Amino acid sequence: MTERVFNFSPGPATLPYEVLVQAGKDVVNFQETGIGLIEISHRSREFMAVAEEAEKNLRELMEIPDNYKVLFLQGGASSQFFMIPMNLLGNGKKATYLNTGTWAKKAIKEAKLFGEIDVPYSSEENSFNRVPTQDEYTVAEDSEYLYFVSNNTIYGTQFPEFPETEKMLISDMSSDILSRKIDISRFGLIFAGAQKNLGPAGVTIVIIRDDLLERTPQNTPTMLKYKTHADKGSMFNTPPCFAIYAVGEVLKWLKKQGGVAAMEEINREKATLIYDVIDSTDYYIGHAEKESRSLMNISFNLPTAELEAKFIAEAATIGLNGLKGHRSIGGCRASIYNAFPRDGIVKLVEFMKQFELDNPA
Ligand SMILES: *Cc1c(COP(=O)(O)O)cnc(C)c1O
Repeated sequence: MTERVFNFSPGPATLPYEVLVQAGKDVVNFQETGIGLIEISHRSREFMAVAEEAEKNLRELMEIPDNYKVLFLQGGASSQFFMIPMNLLGNGKKATYLNTGTWAKKAIKEAKLFGEIDVPYSSEENSFNRVPTQDEYTVAEDSEYLYFVSNNTIYGTQFPEFPETEKMLISDMSSDILSRKIDISRFGLIFAGAQKNLGPAGVTIVIIRDDLLERTPQNTPTMLKYKTHADKGSMFNTPPCFAIYAVGEVLKWLKKQGGVAAMEEINREKATLIYDVIDSTDYYIGHAEKESRSLMNISFNLPTAELEAKFIAEAATIGLNGLKGHRSIGGCRASIYNAFPRDGIVKLVEFMKQFELDNPA
């Protein structure tokens, strides 16, 4: 077998090796049933136990209060861009969105189909190199909620602290869920596509305060009402069984690592190793302003596009893959979610230092 490489891909992204090995076995023969995991009925005792355990572990790890539902949905994180306003904004109602990147912008576009959308802050003019501080925007009095993207996967920015407001918060945490401790009670809804920090593509986790389930307009299609899925424990129709299973395995792994608080410390240390190189030279230029730096995605440039191409190609020859930046900003990006091994970061940092010596600007 080919040796495993360090995969800096932004998503789908690196998963814990032991989870992949276990999944490989279970896909063929799940718990000695003689049936593969992806062949088994979603209503079987075995699979119901898998889904229940995944939810239980997520609740425990994130300290989710009892008045919140956990849903396992399909349609990707992108479907939440319309499901949220469709369920929570009736005609003429207002919501506030912070425009901190591509994913925020897409959510704003969809939300405008359902209500009046106020965007009091945008960092677009500065190619989304920062997130706002509290004094840079105000939330309208008559706003139903404040929507923000906690980690901007493409630009490598992250809210170091969450917005302070009387309004309920709604957040797209697709690329930093479970990477740090959060106080769920400040949120009306949190969602995350699994394929960055949680598992494989195919399932989107939605954590929703239960009183919000009653707000949905009556003429909303059944499959698009949160209540439909909440009432049936995410089994109204066939759920994405394999993705739920794999998320469950990642959650068990996370518990073994010491949970979210331990992860947060590890993530900070891992990211600092790379930022220290960026800060020690003018050769590597971080995209994000320091106060807005992400611990999950580190976007940076080299002196020229040619050097960037060479950097990415040479890195791949020594097993450092997926370092190409998003097409919208170019350059390089290291995505280092929970499951990304520290050894890969040490290797990248050594490579960065050597590359600078070998390829002067
Ligand atoms: C990747 C990503 C999305 C889109 O996820 P899909 O599951 O592909 O729809 C949305 N928001 C953020 C922050 C992301 O990183």
